[in-house]
Amino acid sequence: MRIDLHAHSTASDGTDTPAELVAAAAAAGVDVLALTDHDTTAGWDDAVDALPVGLRLIRGAEFSCLAPDGRGGHVSVHLLGYLFDPSSAAIIAEQTRLRDERRVRLCVMARRMAADGFPVDPDEFLAGLPPEAPVGRPHLAQALVSAGVVGSVDEAFRRFLNTGGPYYTGRVDTDVHTAIRMVRAAGGVAVLAHAAARRRGPVIDLSVIAELFTEGLAGVEVNHPDHADGDRAALRDLAAELGLLMTGSSDYHGRNKTVSLGQETTDPEALERIEELAASSRVAAVTG
Ligand SMILES: [Zn+2]
Ligand SMILES: [Zn+2]
Repeated sequence: MRIDLHAHSTASDGTDTPAELVAAAAAAGVDVLALTDHDTTAGWDDAVDALPVGLRLIRGAEFSCLAPDGRGGHVSVHLLGYLFDPSSAAIIAEQTRLRDERRVRLCVMARRMAADGFPVDPDEFLAGLPPEAPVGRPHLAQALVSAGVVGSVDEAFRRFLNTGGPYYTGRVDTDVHTAIRMVRAAGGVAVLAHAAARRRGPVIDLSVIAELFTEGLAGVEVNHPDHADGDRAALRDLAAELGLLMTGSSDYHGRNKTVSLGQETTDPEALERIEELAASSRVAAVTG
């Protein structure tokens, strides 16, 4: 059994459409694939419709969160939610809040550019954003291209919008405690993604993972392409000590990354536990 519990499609930042992704997974010999796009479940239906015979799909998402780092500050972390109900009140409320805050954030960036004399009309820009879809810096970058300020989206990021750039305004993410509660309230199972991916930046302290476990975190992604051997061992020890379930996943992004589907895998027992937890939390959600 090859079980890969973390993959992205064009519904977020992968390069395979959900249909191409499930076909590629089957071709790569994967038996169970989780579709976990960033902050969206928009790819689920297309993946289900295109599901090849013999491949099982675990529906999920990867939520961008902010967590205490255990050293007095905060770090950005990703939380994988599996088998949750995307229409639950908890999910809808947080998605609505994030969508609104991301609009406010873009508005702040556009106003700051306008105040410095760039030909951007913040009100017009905001009115032109898609009303339902998630919005982000690429939308503002595109507006700057249209206004002739820059020649390309890349240039807009390089000169103005990159993290630390002159008009960058902080990200809006969900507090990790809120995200764990949200996934559970929606009948799902929460697993911390690539907690030791050091080359992406500072990582969360193991003591914080232990604390999150007491709040309902069910597992940690131990085997991930960005994890060094020593970190895998440390996460494995922590998981064994606490009784956290352990997953392994490729975090496939199509052509955007070099990893291949099924490159890292999850044991069937861990998947079974995820499904049991989801079933029991669904019962809890229904009976209140
Ligand atoms: Zn991630
Ligand atoms: Zn990911």
